[in-house]
Amino acid sequence: NGLIVSFGEMLIDFVPTVSGVSLAEAPGFLKAPGGAPANVAIAVARLGGSAAFVGKLGDDEFGLMLAGILKENGVSADGVNFDKGARTALAFVTLRADGEREFMFYRNPSADMLLTPDELNLQLIRSAKVFHYGSISLIVEPCRSAHLKAMEVAKDGGALLSYDPNLRLPLWASAEEAREQIMSIWDKADVIKVSDVELEFLTGSDKIDDESALSLWHPNLKLLLVTLGEKGCRYYTKNFRGSVDAYHVKAVDTTGAGDSFVGALLCKIVDDHAIIEDEPRLKEVLKYACACGAITTTKKGAIPALPTHSDVLTLLNA
Ligand code: ATP
Repeated sequence: NGLIVSFGEMLIDFVPTVSGVSLAEAPGFLKAPGGAPANVAIAVARLGGSAAFVGKLGDDEFGLMLAGILKENGVSADGVNFDKGARTALAFVTLRADGEREFMFYRNPSADMLLTPDELNLQLIRSAKVFHYGSISLIVEPCRSAHLKAMEVAKDGGALLSYDPNLRLPLWASAEEAREQIMSIWDKADVIKVSDVELEFLTGSDKIDDESALSLWHPNLKLLLVTLGEKGCRYYTKNFRGSVDAYHVKAVDTTGAGDSFVGALLCKIVDDHAIIEDEPRLKEVLKYACACGAITTTKKGAIPALPTHSDVLTLLNA
């Protein structure tokens, strides 16, 4: 299988042991390893694909634990660096009773933000058939320069570039800055996936329709996806557009559904980029990706809930 390299942050979310409390009220927290690019790499490996994660962790107990999770899941950690000084990133996250998500990040700075261009494993990145990334690695230097260099090296090596902005507004200095920086690398990507919330944020429109989605189109883009949670997804290419329904499941925690969806998509197109231009085949792939997203919502946490190929077949054949 062609190698999928996912670039960016891997961190630990601390989530309350009980639901519906504020961070201040939480009686205790459980570790939930994550970081969208790391989730995508693990999603790929769990489905049987070949994946590597590139990023930086703290040279501490948590960093070693996260590297161990990559390896246990069959993800190459050859592109992982460890920072001697800075800690592994942590985030305390809760879904309060009023439905609002509350975040508190420990990134002052955390190891992921300190990855430098010189530390990149260029050989690994150059061998990627797909190079995937988000936008959190664009927030500060030197990680931003490392991100831009890695994209360039991957593209030169012939990789398909896949971008899921994964907006985390509280990490940015301002909303304007977030929008500007997220869009600064927009026209480099071959495949872009946004959620409904990101579509609204990036377009400034409160409509989730073809017109607003297509306002994000760029001439070099091959595939634009808008994921809509329990409403499935919409797809746009140069020649056709359409939608795929979600699978009906009992969702308990939607964390990682988008990453699972992306991992599945990349796994299916890595060895045959032409699928993107063939609507019936692309639709099959997106059904598979929606099934992966759906399964991921049925268990707590992102990584423990990522499906194997056989889990997906079970849902598809049900
Ligand atoms: P996240 O940021 O939480 O990882 P996202 O917002 O990027 O997720 P979603 O739209 O929530 O992405 O989910 C991706 C896909 O997973 C959807 O297109 C859908 O197919 C599936 N999915 C998500 N939530 C549900 C749900 N409640 N029921 C069924 N399928 C779902």
